[in-house]
Amino acid sequence: MADLQFDGERAYQHLHHLAVDIGARLGGSEGEHQAAQYIKQHFAGLGLTAHLEPFPVQGFDLTEKQLTVLDPPLGDVFCEVYYLNQDTPPEGLEADVVYVGPGQLENLGPEIAGRIVMVLGGVRGAYEQLMRFGPAGLIIIEAEPDKAPLRIEMLPELRSKFGAVPTVRISHEDGLRLVKAGVKRARILVRTVETEATSHNVIGELRGTVFPDEIVVVGGHYDTSLGIQGASDNAGGTVLVMELARVFAARGSKRTLRFAAWGSEEMGLRGSVHHIKTLKKADKAARKAEGFVKERDKTELDQHVLCVNLDVHGAILGENHSRTLGPGDLSAAVRLMAKEHGPAYEVAEDIYSSDGMPFSEAGVPSISFARSGGTTRYLHTPADIIDYLGPQALAESGRFVEEFLVRYVTEARAFPFEREVPDNLKNKIRDYFQKRLRIDYYEDDEDEKGAS
Ligand SMILES: [Zn+2]
Repeated sequence: MADLQFDGERAYQHLHHLAVDIGARLGGSEGEHQAAQYIKQHFAGLGLTAHLEPFPVQGFDLTEKQLTVLDPPLGDVFCEVYYLNQDTPPEGLEADVVYVGPGQLENLGPEIAGRIVMVLGGVRGAYEQLMRFGPAGLIIIEAEPDKAPLRIEMLPELRSKFGAVPTVRISHEDGLRLVKAGVKRARILVRTVETEATSHNVIGELRGTVFPDEIVVVGGHYDTSLGIQGASDNAGGTVLVMELARVFAARGSKRTLRFAAWGSEEMGLRGSVHHIKTLKKADKAARKAEGFVKERDKTELDQHVLCVNLDVHGAILGENHSRTLGPGDLSAAVRLMAKEHGPAYEVAEDIYSSDGMPFSEAGVPSISFARSGGTTRYLHTPADIIDYLGPQALAESGRFVEEFLVRYVTEARAFPFEREVPDNLKNKIRDYFQKRLRIDYYEDDEDEKGAS
C-alpha cells in the first residue's frame, strides 16, 4: 500500500532532474522542450494517455546588457533586462536621467520626454502614460531590498499596443545609491534576439471508472524565466503533479483526472490560456452542431468540474496556502481538513496569479495550493534554487492534495462542489486579466461573437 501514498523522495528526484539536470526552462526553449519530453514519458510510463499540446510563443535570448552611470561617474551598475521590450543601438543609448518615484500615473509627465526615467517598482498600470511622453529609456528599481533584480519579460501585447522602450532593472540598494548620488546621465545597452518558438502543455489522462464525464484537472507550470532553475517556481509544483499522477494511476479514480504540466506560464499564463481557448472553441462548435440538446448534452468544457493548480512548492522552511475561485464549500473543505489533522493551511477565496485563472474565467472552479517561505522572495531570480527545497516539504503538500483528491474527487459518491464561480470572484478575475495582465486574451472570442 505504500506505493499508493505520495512519496517525497520520488518527487524530489524529479525535482532534481527538472531544476538541476535540465535547469532553465524558458517558454519555447530547448530546456522547456527537454522537460516536456521527460514529463510526457513519465505520464506514458504510468499508463496514462499522454500527449503534447503545442502553441506559439515569443522566444528570446540575451546577447548584451550594461548600465553605466556617467554623471556622477559611478561606472557600471549590475542590471537585468526587462525582456521583450526594445533593444538599444549596438553602441548603447545615452541620455539624461530623471528619478520620478513609484511608476504611477501621477509621477509620469512631460518632463520624462527624451530622458532615461528611473522608477521605483514597476509601471505596468501606467505603461500607456509612460509611453505617451516618449522617454528614451527606463530603469526599474526593485521595490524590495536584499534581493537581485527580477529576470522577467514584458507581455509583447503591451508593446504592440503602446510602444516599447529599452528597459533594465536594478536592485533596491543600487537604486538607493543612484538616487542618493543624484544621478544625472547614464548609458543603457540592451541587445537581445527574438525568435518564433513553440511551447507545449503536457497532458496525461486517467479515465474515470464511474463518472468519466466529470473531469478534474490537476496541473502546474513547468517553465521558468530566462536562465534560472525555477526550483520553487515551479519545478516544485510540477513534481507534485508527476507524483500524484503515479499515485492515482495505481489507485484508480471514479472521475477522469487530467494531469497537466503547463508551458510558458511565466510569459503570461500562455499554456493554460491556450488550453482553455481550445476548449472554448470546441464548446462553441459543439453547441452549434446538429442534434445538440442544451439541457441534455455536455460539451467537453461543461464536463470540467474543477481545476487543481499547484504553483510554488517545496520550501523546507515554508507555510501552506490555498486560494479558491469557486463555491464556498471548496475553501471550507481545505479549512476542515487542515483543522482535522493539520498541517496548518492559510485559506482564502481569492485570485492567485497562475494557471487556475483561465479555468475559472471560463466558469470552472479552481483551487490553488502553494507552499511559500522566506526564500519565496527569490522567485524569478537566479536564487530560486533547489537548496531551499526538500522531500519532506514536498511530501507534506503532496499528501494533503492527495487526500483532498481521494475524499472529494476520486472516491466521492457525488461530486461535492457546485460548478459555479460567485460574481464577486468573477469580477476579480476579470480585473486581473484586464487591469493587471493588461491584455485581453479573450478579445478573439468577442470578435467571433460579433461575426456570428
Ligand atoms: Zn509560478
